[in-house]
Amino acid sequence: MSVNERTYIMIKPDGVQRNLVGKIIARFEERGYKLIALKLVHATPEHLEKHYEDLKGKGFFPGLIKYMASGPVVAMVWQGLDAVKTGRVMLGATNPLASPIGSIRGDYALSVGRNICHGSDSVESAEKEIALWFPEGIVQWTSELEPWVLENN
Ligand code: GDP
Ligand code: MG
Repeated sequence: MSVNERTYIMIKPDGVQRNLVGKIIARFEERGYKLIALKLVHATPEHLEKHYEDLKGKGFFPGLIKYMASGPVVAMVWQGLDAVKTGRVMLGATNPLASPIGSIRGDYALSVGRNICHGSDSVESAEKEIALWFPEGIVQWTSELEPWVLENN
């Protein structure tokens, strides 16, 4: 766990279509994470197959790629203390029905195939996903709020 940990968070096409972009971004901002990359992308199936390469061979894989390529996604990198694990907690479980109220999926989604958001599952996959979605790099900036969010910083 590091104070400068980075995670790749993505609002999926259903989250964009349902106008949940602002609400999802607000949750990460309000928690104290720092936004260091952001863009709206209509990804190709080939790009999405790379992103989800670990799931190739699953029965739901073709449907997943079709869903993810059906419209634009919001690609983001958020940085801060324990960003990967805490980001996953903020998202909820893969199946929205198993997600606690108060999590993004628990508040806004019902179906595993329309679960609104993605978050990296480890620091290693976060770094891979950040490189895949942001080959141009991220934005380094100093947050004046940081001493109010993190002790001894
Ligand atoms: P995540 O890390 O919580 O997003 O879950 P996974 O990495 O296991 O799966 C990636 C995405 O594939 C999920 O977010 C779902 O959108 C989709 N998915 C996973 N399991 C299933 C399933 O059993 N059925 C369907 N339709 N989609 C699934
Ligand atoms: Mg995953």
